Amino acid sequence: MRKGLYNLADKQTKRLISLFIAFAITFVTAFSSEVISAEDVTDVEKIILAEDEPEMRDTSSQNSKIPDSSSCNTKVTDKLTINFGKVGIGDCAILECGGEAAVIDGGFYRYRKQIKNTIDMMGIKEFKFLINTHAHEDHAGGLRYIVKNYEYGDVYVNGLVPDDRHNKKLARAVNRKGGTFKPLYKDDVLTLGSATLTVIGPTVYYPKRNHDDVNNNSLIIMVQHGSKRILFTGDALVQEQNDILNSKVEIGCDVLKVPHHGFKNASNDAFIAAASPTYSICTGPKFTKLVKVVNWQPFAVMSNKGAKVYSTGYQGIITMTSDGENIEWDKEPVVQN
Ligand SMILES: [Zn+2]
Repeated sequence: MRKGLYNLADKQTKRLISLFIAFAITFVTAFSSEVISAEDVTDVEKIILAEDEPEMRDTSSQNSKIPDSSSCNTKVTDKLTINFGKVGIGDCAILECGGEAAVIDGGFYRYRKQIKNTIDMMGIKEFKFLINTHAHEDHAGGLRYIVKNYEYGDVYVNGLVPDDRHNKKLARAVNRKGGTFKPLYKDDVLTLGSATLTVIGPTVYYPKRNHDDVNNNSLIIMVQHGSKRILFTGDALVQEQNDILNSKVEIGCDVLKVPHHGFKNASNDAFIAAASPTYSICTGPKFTKLVKVVNWQPFAVMSNKGAKVYSTGYQGIITMTSDGENIEWDKEPVVQN
């Protein structure tokens, strides 16, 4: 009887210990995923799923017309300046070349003062075009501010129907100014002064069922200026990066805007190896200690691939200038090679 009681007590103790361990594992897992997915914690990229699947246009069978890096050594007279904005865990690049200006993503709306300051600093009064790589607030939000407060030519989005919450907000702002979105598809080319912007992705569209699908529909754009190439990747995850690799397009570049802020689910060694950038820009979170920065996964990945690493989260606004043959920066990279 007494032995039976002890057994019962043992069982209860074991059950309590098991419950405690299960709770601890759940807590640790939740906490660690929050750290890795800081974007998901801090931003409002939570997607309202589209109820209707957008019309698909599979462009994967098309041959890319983008020139490879070796065949494009055209001399240019204009300088290309790109400011990578300090917009939290978000993307905002403001480009100026030959007296023409453009924006690739606008960061969060709440960083609009930073965006205005950068635009003023660059002396820009109007934009030839604005591009939203995909319909997440950390890329579309600041574009609303620009749409409301500046003159511009066209507003480009990917080839999907802009039917989620954030694009609706941006669409409303554009509509109030009497315009509409224009879709960009693979192989479309825009010009900005002597620079060209060639759309190389998406090559495949994903139904917008979840957050990752929206990211994997990001416009991917190669900016060519003389012999220099800057690759904008939006929030393309491994899936879209593989689609690009499968399309056999040449993605070798001098500067890589690291996909999806450098988060874990965007670290695709094959893609980064094919891009083989000299410089990389991470638009990830701010870390207060350099030791954390240099050990942060995307920095380590980029650094291992031989790229110098810049971080808007850590360094603030970063300015690069190309004369078509050389690229200069206003800051030293956070990680040298
Ligand atoms: Zn993003």
